[in-house]
Amino acid sequence: MSVLPKIVLHICCAPDEAYVINLLRAEYQLHCFFCNHNIYPVTEYELRFAEAQKVAERYNIPFSADSYEPSLWTQVVKDLENTPEGGQRCRECFLLRLRRTASFCKNLGWSAFTSVMSVSPHKNITMLNETGALAAREQEMEYIPFNFKKKDGFRKSIALSNSLGLYRQDYCGCQLSLKERNIRLKEKLFKKDHS
Ligand code: SF4
Repeated sequence: MSVLPKIVLHICCAPDEAYVINLLRAEYQLHCFFCNHNIYPVTEYELRFAEAQKVAERYNIPFSADSYEPSLWTQVVKDLENTPEGGQRCRECFLLRLRRTASFCKNLGWSAFTSVMSVSPHKNITMLNETGALAAREQEMEYIPFNFKKKDGFRKSIALSNSLGLYRQDYCGCQLSLKERNIRLKEKLFKKDHS
């Protein structure tokens, strides 16, 4: 039986998951928890889910998933639709997923959790760690505030996911981030056509 400390890993996507598993698996007993009510549309959710499951299987790490209830996300970002990516709507989105991760962790009988989301340079680490700590405090659990983008984490995660042939999404996940991605692409095309 493993005597390593136990951590539930909140998983947002396979590339971040693979990198963090490789970083932590020698020092911790891990359990992956895929919880992403924010992802839109359902086909994108299914794709990210399947890839995340595949990664856990590859490294022989237990994998669980929350239900998929996009209405939970819609409720928490209500009236925040016009806020930009990285602002208040992302705070609520983090909090939703980390609260549910804390509940999962508690039901599992473990006491600590973290999220692989800090691999991404697009995520506000202060906001992520604050919401994680709040979700933990509410349920008398512990949130471990890793910063996985340190030590070139993002670049290494890209290299690893390429070598494993994993799907890499090009938008954060929600309907709003998909729209923002489309606007960015249009602007890029416009600039290219007019340069
Ligand atoms: S941009 Fe990402 S973190 Fe922010 S609300 Fe959308 S899915 Fe959530």
